[in-house]
Amino acid sequence: MRYELRCRECNKSWGNQARSICDDCFSPLEVFYDYDSIRSSFTREKISQGPPSMWRYSDLLPLPPHYQPTVPAGFTPLLKAPRLARDLGTKNLYLKNDAVCLPTLSFKDRVVAVALAQARAFGFDTVACSSTGNLANSVAAQAARNGFKSWIFIPADLEPAKIIGTQVFGAKLVRISGSYDQVNRLCSQIADERNWGFVNVNLRPYYAEGSKTVGFEIAEQLGWRLPDNVVVPMAGGSLITKIKKAFEELQELGLVEPKPVKFFGAQATGCSPISTAVKAGNPEIDPQKPSTIARSLAIGNPADGHYAIRAINKSGGWAEDVSDPQVVRGIQDLAETEGIFTETAGGVTVGCARKLSHQGRIRPEETTVLCITGNGLKTTDALVGQYESETPIAAKLADFNKYLESVLDAPVKSAIPETVEA
Ligand SMILES: *Cc1c(COP(=O)(O)O)cnc(C)c1O
Ligand SMILES: [Zn+2]
Repeated sequence: MRYELRCRECNKSWGNQARSICDDCFSPLEVFYDYDSIRSSFTREKISQGPPSMWRYSDLLPLPPHYQPTVPAGFTPLLKAPRLARDLGTKNLYLKNDAVCLPTLSFKDRVVAVALAQARAFGFDTVACSSTGNLANSVAAQAARNGFKSWIFIPADLEPAKIIGTQVFGAKLVRISGSYDQVNRLCSQIADERNWGFVNVNLRPYYAEGSKTVGFEIAEQLGWRLPDNVVVPMAGGSLITKIKKAFEELQELGLVEPKPVKFFGAQATGCSPISTAVKAGNPEIDPQKPSTIARSLAIGNPADGHYAIRAINKSGGWAEDVSDPQVVRGIQDLAETEGIFTETAGGVTVGCARKLSHQGRIRPEETTVLCITGNGLKTTDALVGQYESETPIAAKLADFNKYLESVLDAPVKSAIPETVEA
């Protein structure tokens, strides 16, 4: 057995099945690998010959034997960000750009791809999820591509683009009047009654492993080096712990030199159970009632909150949170300096990175990676009222010049230099 589920606390083995909690001690299950059986096949050379997608790391994913991938998820760009770096007061800054992850433009495509691989192996014909938006889009799209029926449960107040971007795939969308945490509790009850594969409930241990590929890619794209710092937006708190697991696995298997990496968590102040706990020195979450425009991160009682706090503290990192106006500013800063349009979660990451840099927790010479996890076209509502809507002018040069005079508040003449005779 290359991998199996084990309890994170009592270590009991649960084999491979659709289950996320240990019946003995009620702790979460996690995928455990037999690294010795993987060591010889998981090499830099072999990986570099793999496909340009997350499937190049299949040896360290819990996939059924002979699994044939159906979506080219992952292997998104890692971009140097010199202009944003200057703006934030740092130097070696990189962006991991999952705003362009396929097929649905968020990092959730990675986790869903792994969960659905197992859903098929476990014999489900219907898949489902509770979602703050991006997971809904990704489950609906990949269910369509793989011939599953899908049921998607969301809080009623999600952004219109995330609702349409779910329905278009033919998914059954159930809007719940309540918070994500209430939606998620309902889904746990439904999962006990119906034979459905809930990607983030009974398939959660497999789902979560998909997030490791963000970490594998960061290391490979830095030339098989680990960064000094990573800034990660947090909702349920899973992604940040899995990037850490990815870095540990690469060290264990000898693909990168051992090196300490600091993990920094980012939240919106209006839903900040994890950053609040880190700042107060609490090892546990105090659940919150979310109120923020960063809806994709609005989980008041995060499933992996405890483990996220522990990962951050053990790494010597920190967590921060930013107000909704700072989230909007963060979206604009990233767009104006680097030409990337991210959703509210990315605005949270950029805003928190600015704070962490000003606090001296991220130092200028260090290599820092910001995880941009979703696309701005899904949350344009956050920018309503930020830009004037221009009155149209006639398609005439004279009208344009008049318009230019009014905008520049100065007389306008042709800006083409006089040609000089040779
Ligand atoms: C879900 C999500 C996150 C956070 O993921 P967790 O693993 O739940 O912490 C971050 N960014 C975006 C855009 C998301 O949709
Ligand atoms: Zn247990």
